[in-house]
Amino acid sequence: MGEPLDSRDAQVEEVIDRLYDEYPDSTISLNFSNRLELLIAVMLSAQCTDERVNEETADLFEKYETVEDYANADVDELSEDIGSITYHNSKADYIVSSAQTMLEDHDGEVPDTMDELTELKGVGRKTANVVLQHGHDIVEGIVVDTHVQRLSRRLGITEDERPEAIEEDLMGIVPEEHWQQYTHLCISHGRATCTARNPDCGDCVVEDLCPSSKLDHDVDLASGEEWN
Ligand code: SF4
Repeated sequence: MGEPLDSRDAQVEEVIDRLYDEYPDSTISLNFSNRLELLIAVMLSAQCTDERVNEETADLFEKYETVEDYANADVDELSEDIGSITYHNSKADYIVSSAQTMLEDHDGEVPDTMDELTELKGVGRKTANVVLQHGHDIVEGIVVDTHVQRLSRRLGITEDERPEAIEEDLMGIVPEEHWQQYTHLCISHGRATCTARNPDCGDCVVEDLCPSSKLDHDVDLASGEEWN
């Protein structure tokens, strides 16, 4: 059928309910054992798969253990150490610079506010939200990655296009107690079923609510283009 519920509030609550049933254990898939490792892993994960990041950090976190290790690292050597990661040169530079800022301004600790985190070089609102949620248990916003962006648009939950605008819009309709989990549910469903190129609408638990369903709609609302 593929028809959204009457209001966006009702639509988002029903989608969340069903995805919770489908993915009860959905959580962050990056490996880390402390806040510093979390920050590094999230910085590395921009435009790169979590799987690749986890492969690379297995050795990285043995070689660099403290903020001082990163702050004193040679950028070229660190870049080689993360050589299979997308944009590894820039990311090595961001990591060394951020570690130096943490040493100079934050007693070597990973900051626990949005403002302080986003002052670190290369750390945007998305990275900061993940670090706050999973490192400090502070939920200040909704992490909008490519899956959240795509699914929220496909399901008619938002019409915004830029991540910052999508986050603001979602914060007005996703109940606050679900802000953290909403991201993980979208990522799980985006990986398992509602993939970017070839969503499996015939096997989707929210198909009857989806105004982009390929079973009875011509247009993918995420891109605004017709399905091929
Ligand atoms: S898999 Fe298809 S029906 Fe399900 S949310 Fe994605 S586009 Fe909609």
